[in-house]
Amino acid sequence: MKIVDVRVETFRTKSRMVRDSEGHTHPGPEHDSTGSLLRIVTDDGVEGYTFGANRSVIDGLVKPLLIGEDPFYRERIWQMLKERQRLHLGSLSDRVLASVDMALWDLAGRALGQPVHKLLGAFRDKVPAYGSTMCGDDLEGGLDTPEAYADFAVKCVERGYPAFKLHTWQPPYEGAPSWKRDVEACRAVREAVGPDIDLMLDPFHYYSREESLYLGRALEELDYYWIEEPMDEHSTSSYVWLAEQLDLPVVGPETAEGKMQTRAEWIVRGASDISRGGVGDLGGITPLVKTAHLCEAHGVKMEVHGGGPGNLHVLCAMGIPGHYYERGLLHPFVDYEQPSPWLNTLTDPMDDEGYVHVSQEPGLGWDINWDYISAHTIA
Ligand code: MG
Repeated sequence: MKIVDVRVETFRTKSRMVRDSEGHTHPGPEHDSTGSLLRIVTDDGVEGYTFGANRSVIDGLVKPLLIGEDPFYRERIWQMLKERQRLHLGSLSDRVLASVDMALWDLAGRALGQPVHKLLGAFRDKVPAYGSTMCGDDLEGGLDTPEAYADFAVKCVERGYPAFKLHTWQPPYEGAPSWKRDVEACRAVREAVGPDIDLMLDPFHYYSREESLYLGRALEELDYYWIEEPMDEHSTSSYVWLAEQLDLPVVGPETAEGKMQTRAEWIVRGASDISRGGVGDLGGITPLVKTAHLCEAHGVKMEVHGGGPGNLHVLCAMGIPGHYYERGLLHPFVDYEQPSPWLNTLTDPMDDEGYVHVSQEPGLGWDINWDYISAHTIA
C-alpha cells in the first residue's frame, strides 16, 4: 500500500466560540467559521482522516515527504517529520505532526477493520472523565465568580462527572491573575460538591514560585487532587522547587516543547509528581504511547492532556494511570453533548456514571457527516 495523495479540504461552518485578546476561548455570538479535514489517500482506496490541519504546511512540507510511502510505516514517517522540524520550527509544529500521525493511525484502523486502541494493545474500553471548564470570564451566569464555578461544578456532578477541573481567570479579565481569587473559586467548588469528588486546578500559568506555593498549600487544605502549570514550564528548576515542598501532586509538563525527551528530563529531576502529555503537545499518538511507556518504566503516572479521539484511544491502551479523560472545555452556556456539525455523533460519549466510551469502529471512530462537508466545501 502506498500513499498517493495528502490534502486538506476546507468547509464553511458556524461557531459560537470567540477568543479574548489573550487567545482563550469563551462562548459568544454565532459567527461564520472555517473547518478543515486532512485526508490521506492510498492506492488501495483506503483513507485516513483528522480535522483541523493547516493546508499550506501540509502542501508545502508534509505532502512531498509522504507521497509514495507505505502508510503503515508510521514510525519512519514520524521520525522524518520530526527531523524536518529542526529547520521549520515556525511552521511544522507538533500539532501538525499530531494531525498527520492521527490520520495515519485512522487509516491503519480502517485498513485492518480495528479501532486504534486495539491496534495499540487495548487495556480498557471506557475511561472516567473529568469536566474541564473554560477559563474564567465576566459573563453573568457564566464563569464570572467563585459561586458561578460552584454552581457549575454541581451541575457537572449531577451530569455524572466524578471529577472537575477549574481553569480560572487569566488576563484580560479584571483582577486576573489572582491566586487568592483562584483559592476562593476552588474553596467554593469544594464546599459545593463535598469531599468525594476529585478536584483539580489549572490556573494562570505565570505565577511566581511563592504565589504557586501559597496556592498549592491552600489546595492541600481543600484536598485537591492535583495542580497543573502554575508557572512557566521552561523553568524546570522552579517545578523541582515547588514539587519538593508540596504534598499536593504537581502535574506536568504540558505545554513545554520537547516531546517525550522533556518528560524524561522532568521525571529524572523530580519536577512533577505526575507526568503529562497529549497528542497535540507531543506530536501524535506515536509519541504519546512512547511517553506512557517511559512513565510506566519510571513508576510515574501520566495524565493525558486534552480530549478527542487520539487521546481517548491512547488512554484505552494504557495499563498505568492516566486515570482520567479530560472532557471539555465546558461552560454553562455551551451544550457539549451536541456534536460538531461535521460529525454525526460525539467522539467522546459519556454515560451517567461519568465514563467516556471509546469507539469500536475501525480507526479513530470519526462518524463524519459527509453530506454536511460536501455541501459546505470551499472551492
Ligand atoms: Mg492545562
